[in-house]
Amino acid sequence: MFTICFVAVMQGQTEDIYQKYFPDPTIDMPVPITRGNPVFNYFTKYKDVLSFIDELAAKYPDIMTVSSIGTTQKGKNQPMILLTRKSKTADQDKLRVTFIGGIHGNEPLSTDGMLYLMYLVTHDPSNLALLDNMILQVVPMVNADGRTAETRASNNSTDLNRDLTILKAKESTNLKLAINKFDPHVVVDFHEFSPARLDFKELNDCYTSAYDILFLYTGNLNVDPAIRDVIKTVFVEPTKSFLTDKGRRVADYCTTFMKDNEVWLNIGGIASRSSATNYALQNRISMLMEIRGLSEKEKSAKRRIETAALTGLSYLKIAHDHESEIKEAIKIANKNAVEATRVSVSTSKPETIKRDYHFVDKCKVSDTTIVFNANYNVNQSPDITRPKPGAFLIFPASEKVKKVLEVSGVLVKVTKQPFQFNKIEQYAVNENGQINIVEGAVSIPEEALVIDSQQPMSNVIADLMEPEGANSLYANNIIKKKNKENMIPIYRISREQLSQLSTK
Ligand SMILES: [Zn+2]
Repeated sequence: MFTICFVAVMQGQTEDIYQKYFPDPTIDMPVPITRGNPVFNYFTKYKDVLSFIDELAAKYPDIMTVSSIGTTQKGKNQPMILLTRKSKTADQDKLRVTFIGGIHGNEPLSTDGMLYLMYLVTHDPSNLALLDNMILQVVPMVNADGRTAETRASNNSTDLNRDLTILKAKESTNLKLAINKFDPHVVVDFHEFSPARLDFKELNDCYTSAYDILFLYTGNLNVDPAIRDVIKTVFVEPTKSFLTDKGRRVADYCTTFMKDNEVWLNIGGIASRSSATNYALQNRISMLMEIRGLSEKEKSAKRRIETAALTGLSYLKIAHDHESEIKEAIKIANKNAVEATRVSVSTSKPETIKRDYHFVDKCKVSDTTIVFNANYNVNQSPDITRPKPGAFLIFPASEKVKKVLEVSGVLVKVTKQPFQFNKIEQYAVNENGQINIVEGAVSIPEEALVIDSQQPMSNVIADLMEPEGANSLYANNIIKKKNKENMIPIYRISREQLSQLSTK
């Protein structure tokens, strides 16, 4: 009897925090999970996602075009929707914005948020007007296999948001090729975060994160400063204010780690294997949004779907209002990339700061703030740096190396005939694993890969080539050290040496 009462009280309190801190909006939200059955089925079915899209597109044939970026490992469709409105602006002059959802199959509200966003864009005339100077690409369910199996990973157990450089899953390749083809100015990737981190539970078992949404944006120093500045000042900060005004609690995305028996925050990120940095290295404005979710399942689902859609609308409005500023930053980044004058940063260190984190105490139904030590990855200082060479040569090169480079948007050429250089730079690994540049004579064979540093994807090249980088081809074992000599088969040549090679 005691146990039953206790459980009832606990459940009552659990409900209270949602009513008090995360109330659902009282609006009509015609996405699949809120239709029909009054009890939400948190996991929208694959087929229901597709039929929602088809119904909406049938209603707005002049606005919406439905196609696909490809199929999953199990042959499921990865839908893609383009939305724009005919206007005086020619399509090629319009701003291009990409929204991604459903990278992780167990984060279904990232997909539902995109469905509701498309509903709001098509049904509200002021939202529709944004599409006069814009084309919106929505890829709402990248991991359709994971969606069906209700798992985070793809069918071959790949985490698709750790796969954007090494491409173990075809879903990642399909997504990156579709994005390269569309060539968006702005990319936003939607996810769900778990408010019940283990390290927070260690502090107090009653604590749950108080946030509705977390912002992840890159501190990678190979990303052009003009791009990083627009992300933070034009997109992230105003959208935080917009959502705060709508009653949402917002923060920078963080994970936790233990240091000297204390919980530390790890804020932001620099890893190119994930979307926030990957697309920014391609000189695109790029943000990753984490909506409260995962262990929350269906609790406050309408609020969370609305949070995702409001975030998307804020970004669309900003893109619309700041078109010239965005295009100018990308132009600067592309110019810097083509001139390849910025140094490559292989490794860097985050600033150490203090940062407040807001919790809801589920037991007391109250809220509290704790100040943590934090690694602030948005502000990095360089550690190992190198000037960009005129070009990189790679041989022998596997098909995998070529594929990773090309799917990343890098222009790759090959040598037409063998060539002898008396002095070129290469990477030598010493017994401590440290890497140094040494000079030597090298015979270049026919069909060696030639990667010119002076191209728009120059920052992507720096990230993949400089071997100390955590997401480099060498770190990922895609390019392996030659055992006998302890040399990495990546060679650095000058512009003058590049001009001596004949390539195709
Ligand atoms: Zn995720």
